[in-house]
Amino acid sequence: MAIEQRERTLVLIKPDGVQRSLIGEILRRYERTGLKLVGLKFLIPDEKTVREHYMSDENWLKSVGDKSVAAYEKKGLKAPFEDPIKCGEAVLERLVKYLSSGPIAAMVWQGNEAVGIVRKITGGTEPLSSDVGTIRGDLTVDSYNLGDTDGRAVRNLIHASGSVGEAEKEIKIWFREEEIIKYRLVQESILYDVNLDGIVE
Ligand code: UDP
Ligand code: MG
Repeated sequence: MAIEQRERTLVLIKPDGVQRSLIGEILRRYERTGLKLVGLKFLIPDEKTVREHYMSDENWLKSVGDKSVAAYEKKGLKAPFEDPIKCGEAVLERLVKYLSSGPIAAMVWQGNEAVGIVRKITGGTEPLSSDVGTIRGDLTVDSYNLGDTDGRAVRNLIHASGSVGEAEKEIKIWFREEEIIKYRLVQESILYDVNLDGIVE
């Protein structure tokens, strides 16, 4: 199998997605792209695992802090802390509560550009501004405004890895290597074979 076909990404359907009965709808959107489902489980995460998950990328605290500061500024408000890292830590505490509040579905998708394809279908972080046609844009209603007013994380149904490096670290947190299934999907010959021979009889 070519190296491109082995790119993997992690998706978590967060507790609001499960409670909204959207597991099937969300899975369908990823599945019909042609990406291959290679790992799937249903669990209630503990707080330690959620912390480990978000802290597995050393740049994440700063980048999520920047998002949070920008959201406050857009409202004409000052962020609770000047340091974006401190704001990132505040978002992390909200996320720990959110993700460990109930069952989630964890999955690993594999295929060419798996990380980018899944991020595109998932949509931007804030449902209010996520593109139409994306999961976050179509299937829920949250905003930074409401999340900050209520002192909670933005409920956006999904976690999807942001880069190949992030994906590799995150997958290890949720799946043991033997829980990731190696198998051939018949459609892979249509997606990836150099010559489409063998179709016409
Ligand atoms: N989040 C939040 N407030 C913020 C920024 C992020 O509640 O100001 C939450 C939101 O649920 C998001 C998660 O933190 O999905 C992780 O943030 P990240 O920047 O990694 O966004 P994602 O990669 O999920 O789009
Ligand atoms: Mg992220």
